[in-house]
Amino acid sequence: MELQQLVSSIAADVTPDGAVADYIPALARIDPHAFGLAVATLDGEVFGAGDFETPFSIQSISKAFMLALALSQGDDVWSRVGREPSGSPFNSLVQLETEQGIPRNPFINAGALVVTDHLGYGAADKLLKFLRRESGNPDVDVDPEVAKSELDHSDRNRALAHFMASYGNMRNNVDVVLHEYVRQCSIEMSCADLARATLFLARHGVRNDGTRLLAVSGAKRVNAVMLTCGTYDAAGQFAYRVGLPGKSGVGGGIIAVVPGKCAIAVWSPGLDARGNSVAGLDALDRFTTLTGWSVF
Ligand code: GLU
Repeated sequence: MELQQLVSSIAADVTPDGAVADYIPALARIDPHAFGLAVATLDGEVFGAGDFETPFSIQSISKAFMLALALSQGDDVWSRVGREPSGSPFNSLVQLETEQGIPRNPFINAGALVVTDHLGYGAADKLLKFLRRESGNPDVDVDPEVAKSELDHSDRNRALAHFMASYGNMRNNVDVVLHEYVRQCSIEMSCADLARATLFLARHGVRNDGTRLLAVSGAKRVNAVMLTCGTYDAAGQFAYRVGLPGKSGVGGGIIAVVPGKCAIAVWSPGLDARGNSVAGLDALDRFTTLTGWSVF
C-alpha cells in the first residue's frame, strides 16, 4: 500500500478516546476528538491525514529535542541525569531522594528540568530556532497562554527543581529554569511540523540541511532513551504495541522514529491513565503492524 493511502486509512479507522489533560487549565479546552497523523520520509516528503496541519501543544515531546541539543554539546549532561526507566509518573518526586537529586532519566520532568538547566538561559529560544529550521516552518512559536497557565500551576515542577537544587544539581536560579522549561513545553507545532523536525533521528543524526547535529552514536542514544523512557511509565506497553523509539506529551502528541526510514507524528488529545494519547497509540500500533517497520 502507498504511504498516503495507509496514513489515510489509519486516520479513518481510529477512534479518539480518553480524557484531555486538565492539570494545565489552558490544555483542558482542546477538542478531545481531534486526530492528525503525519509521516515524513527521509527525503522530507510528508504524508498526512486528519488534522495533521493543526498546531497543538507539544509539551513533553520537547524533551526529546532538548536531550538531542544537550548531547550535541557533549556527554557531560549524563553526570547530572540517569537513563533508566522510572516506572513512576512523569512528575514524581519519590526517586529523587533515594537517588541524591539525580533524576532517573531526561524524559521525566525532573530530568528535563536538569537538561534545561544544563542548556541554561536561552534554552527555549535555542530549541525554537532548531525546530523552525528542521520543520521548515518559521511560524513555529510558544503559545503564551499555555506558558502562563503552566507557570501559574507549576508548584510540582518548582518543587522538583528546588529539591534537586538542594542536592547541588541546579546551576541556574530555579525561576530561570522554570521559565525556560514552560516555554519549551508550550511550543505549538502540527504533526507535519513535528514529523519533519524529527527526521534527524531517523537519519542517524543528520539534519534536513545535510549538516550533522549528532554523531551516529548520539542519535542511537537519543532513540534508545526514547524507546525505554519516552512514554511515561508505559514505555514497556509502547514497545510492545508500537516497537519504535517514541516520545509523548500531555497535549496528546507522540513522535516516533523508524531509523533509516521515516519519522512519524500523531496527535489526538484524549489520554489514557498514563498520559499517552489513546488514538495516537492505536494509530502507531496499526502503522508498525501494517508496514512491519518496527525496530524489532
Ligand atoms: N509541561 C508539562 C509538565 O511539566 C509537561 C508534561 C508532559 O507533557 O508530560 O507538567
